[in-house]
Amino acid sequence: MRLILLGAPGAGKGTVAKLLTQLDGSVQISTGDILRGAVQAGTELGKKAEAFMKAGDLVPDELIMGIMEDRLQEDDCAKGFLLDGFPRTIPQAEALKDLLARLNITLDMAVNIDVPRDVILDRLTTRRTCSNSDCQAIYNVKSNPPKVEGVCDKCGSPVIQRDDETEEAITRRLETYNEKTAPLVDFYEKEGMLLTVQATSSDDVIAAIKAKLGS
Ligand code: AMP
Repeated sequence: MRLILLGAPGAGKGTVAKLLTQLDGSVQISTGDILRGAVQAGTELGKKAEAFMKAGDLVPDELIMGIMEDRLQEDDCAKGFLLDGFPRTIPQAEALKDLLARLNITLDMAVNIDVPRDVILDRLTTRRTCSNSDCQAIYNVKSNPPKVEGVCDKCGSPVIQRDDETEEAITRRLETYNEKTAPLVDFYEKEGMLLTVQATSSDDVIAAIKAKLGS
């Protein structure tokens, strides 16, 4: 399948994407994960992106489109892909439309995961992430803690609170979402490819996607 996953930070895009990859071999493409990996590796991209990310601001569109143009042409995208955290602005959505037309790729739909703000805030402040950039497993101190406190179940690396998950950065990220990303819901509605799912459980989101795709 070829999907865009829309939704505020903490809506569950990453969790849903990971579950969907198990269904048909589609790959998860998370621009946030790619950028965090670049920051950790100290690459040119990472150096350019770091300050924006730490402040909860968006990284400039040109950098993101450079990443995505290369990523979408990698062999593992042939079976399908789940775009998690991209596009995040109208210019990115327009550039993606052009890029996909050039590559002759058709999307199935854009899924808007709509979760109440109080649930989002609670999730973001209690979320913890594996610090290993190749793993980035997600935990929650209340609902899904690692078996050993502070240690990733999957790879044994330290589990940390992300720099952009301080209260100040979270507030900024939600403002940025409302201002820059929320308008994409209308954009994809006009394109006739929007599915909005109001659900806090990832299983319910998956069920709605499967029903819509008829699979
Ligand atoms: P995420 O893990 O998707 O919440 O992304 C973490 C941070 O990476 C965001 O707060 C932005 O600073 C940056 N980022 C991720 N994806 C994008 C994107 N498509 N456009 C601009 N910035 C992005």
